Amino acid sequence: MSNPTRCAACRYLRRRCCEDCALAPYFPSANPHRFACVHRIFGASNVARMLQQIPVEQRRQAADAIAMEAYWRVQDPVYGGVGVISMLQREISVTQRELAETQAQITMYASQAQSQPNQTAAAQCSEDRHSVPSQPPFPGLYQRDDIPQEILRRHF
Ligand SMILES: [Zn+2]
Repeated sequence: MSNPTRCAACRYLRRRCCEDCALAPYFPSANPHRFACVHRIFGASNVARMLQQIPVEQRRQAADAIAMEAYWRVQDPVYGGVGVISMLQREISVTQRELAETQAQITMYASQAQSQPNQTAAAQCSEDRHSVPSQPPFPGLYQRDDIPQEILRRHF
């Protein structure tokens, strides 16, 4: 007779889940996919051994880290979690460069406005449409291929 309260690990391995099951606290029966990934990548006995070798208070965090790495390794067998980290670092880098370029252009336009206050005020008040620049405010951004055009359309 099967025990309905078996943990995901024991259920997956089709074995009895004893009272002192090492995996039960970290792989509840409600999330069988979590253990399936962990078993596929690391193996159930290896994970049980790893968790028993570390202090009890650190096991939950270790199990979460193991499950996360296993999940991403299943999703991306070549790079695993490092692939996600690299992708996010690239996005951060592109966004930081975009921010730096925008701040530099804001500084440049602000200094131009300070050096020619009357001309700028006249241009703003002018009814003549030909005096308004027809180019986008930051033309350099539109020539960059490392910034997706969708982001440019959304922000500029
Ligand atoms: Zn169990």
